This record gives sequence, structure tokens and C-alpha cells, in this order.
Amino acid sequence: MVQTKLLIIGSGPAGYTAGIYAGRAGIAPLLIEGIQPGGQLTTTTEVENFPGFPEGIDANELMDNMRQQAERFGTKILSNIVTKADLSVQPYKVWLDDGEEIQAQTIIIATGASAKYLGLSDEQKYMGQGVSACATCDGFFYRKKVVAVVGGGDTACEEASYLAGLASKVYLIVRKPFLRASQIMQERVMNNEKIEILFETNTLGLYGEDGVEGAHLIYKKGEAEERKYDLPIDGFFLAIGHHPNSELFSQWIKVDEQGYIITKDDTPCTNLPGVYAAGDVADSNYRQAVIAAASGAKAAMEAEKYLKENE
Ligand code: NDP
Repeated sequence: MVQTKLLIIGSGPAGYTAGIYAGRAGIAPLLIEGIQPGGQLTTTTEVENFPGFPEGIDANELMDNMRQQAERFGTKILSNIVTKADLSVQPYKVWLDDGEEIQAQTIIIATGASAKYLGLSDEQKYMGQGVSACATCDGFFYRKKVVAVVGGGDTACEEASYLAGLASKVYLIVRKPFLRASQIMQERVMNNEKIEILFETNTLGLYGEDGVEGAHLIYKKGEAEERKYDLPIDGFFLAIGHHPNSELFSQWIKVDEQGYIITKDDTPCTNLPGVYAAGDVADSNYRQAVIAAASGAKAAMEAEKYLKENE
């Protein structure tokens, strides 16, 4: 069994920034990296909107820098996955995939959110080579190109509108005969002449030599008018929702109807004393690295205050 003053769960911008702040405060936190070391950002290529890098920075390099910065100040990083938690009493307990038990006085949950994918093998094949789940992150690479966005909700409409400002043409691939998005977002998409909505259409696969060159689509699957065709595109954006990685904790931590951890007012404080949530696991709205990093800093500062007050 390992004891720690502060356990940080997650290794995205929120987790590492929490590590940097808590480390500098002399807390020597323990950080568990999780399934995807470096977090969601590592699924993209270059990051151009993180301040401080005027020429942009490779996403993996950015995350590696953050990791090193956290380690420099005494954050101990374990390449493990948390498989179980018990937050019923303090000290809080979590268990790792190797069976190790960790007891922590405070916890920062920075487990992020995961974009939903269709489950096609081609999504993996072309990941970072034309497939993306973040228009804000990757849209810039598709200036004057043709892209498709999958989904009919607010995120899909927002991403399609954003991409229409960059790309020459945006197809919105919607499986139903209508959009689920709010009225205002629907109107925005429908009134944008660069966006063409392909209703009742599903994606069967993607094709291309060194990256996405097109999508295999099916219209009105299983109906008399069923038609399969290929749509030439340069980029394929998923916008079919995200799910916050909060399941391990939701028995004790209050979450909203979508599973996002509810924090108090403008703080990272959850309903449990000494337990904080930072980054996308508590943010259904912004989902940006810089915002996750800031919330990680806030969470570490709250943890430090809590530890001082409860020493
Ligand atoms: P939603 O769950 O609202 O929409 C997901 C969309 O993806 C739906 O159109 C759904 O289709 C489609 N979809 C899901 N699975 C598949 C699949 N396997 N194949 C094809 N299509 C699929 O998710 P969002 O991320 O859009 O929004 C989440 C929440 O965040 C919502 O409450 C939304 O209002 C909110 N939000 C608000 C914004 C704003 O106010 N500016 C911006 C972004 C999000 P179907 O309709 O058929 O189920």
C-alpha cells in the first residue's frame, strides 16, 4: 500500500499542470497516467493554439514537456491505470491495474473525456492523417480543402460552422432525416452555403493512399432507395459526442446527466472534501488544453489549501 498527500489521476494538460503546481508547493504528488498517457491531445498532431509556441508545437512534445516539468518539481508519475476507487471515507482509496492500493488525503480527478468514434477500423488507420475529433485543434490544416463532419447535434453543427470558415466545402453527415441540434445552430448550418447536409447517410469506411482521400457512404441503409457511393474528402471529423471518464467515481461524486463531474461555482471543488475535478471530465463546454491546464492549476491550489488547513 502507498500513501500520498495528493493523488492526481490523469495525464492530460489538467493532470500535469496540477502536478507542476502541487510539486512547486512541496506536496510531492503521485500522478497516475492512465490508459492514454498525455491525454486526448496526443491523438492530434500539431498544437497551434497553446500560448507560448508561436510556431506551434507537436502535441506529443508539448505533453512530454509538461510531464518533465511536473517531474522536475517532484511529481512521481506511475504508468498505471486506476481500476477501482473507494471515496466513501478518508483517506480515499484507489487501486491500480497491478493490484497496488493507494491511500490519498486529497485527489484531483483529471481523467478527461473521450470522443466517441463510429467504431470503424479506418478511423484508427487514418488517425492523425485525416481523421480528427476536434475541429478547433485540427481544422486549420484543412484550409481550402474539403472535409466532412459526422453528427447532427450541437457539436457537429458548431464544428461544421467553424470548419466552413477554413475549408472550401463541408459535408455534414447525419444519420437521421433531421438535425438534433438547437434551432439556432441548425439555422446557422443551413444558411451557410459552404455546408451541405447529407441526411440519412452513414459512413461505411474511408479510403486513401497516405491519408484520407474519401469516404464510402451509404444513403438510406436497408430501404428501397439504398445507395452506396464514394465522397472525395480530405478530412473526416467526428462530432458524435464525448463521454467524460467519470464512471469510477460517480458513486460518490456528483455528476450531471451526461456524467460530467459537477464542481462548485467557479472552482474545481466537488461535493467531497479534498476531492477536485479538473479538465474535460468536468467541462462539457470548452474542451481546450489551455483551459484544462488552468483548471489543473486551480485544483492543485485548492488541494494545497485543504492540506494546510487539515494538517
Ligand atoms: P449529441 O449527443 O447532442 O449529438 C450527437 C449527434 O451524433 C447526434 O446527431 C447523433 O445522432 C449523432 N450520432 C451519435 N452516434 C452516432 C453514430 N454512431 N453514427 C452517426 N451519428 C451518430 O452530442 P453533442 O456533442 O453534439 O452535444 C452534447 C451536449 O452538449 C448537448 O447537450 C449539446 O446541446 C451541448 N452542446 C452545446 C453547444 C452550444 O450550446 N454551443 C455546443 C456543443 C454541444 P442521432 O440524433 O441520430 O442520435
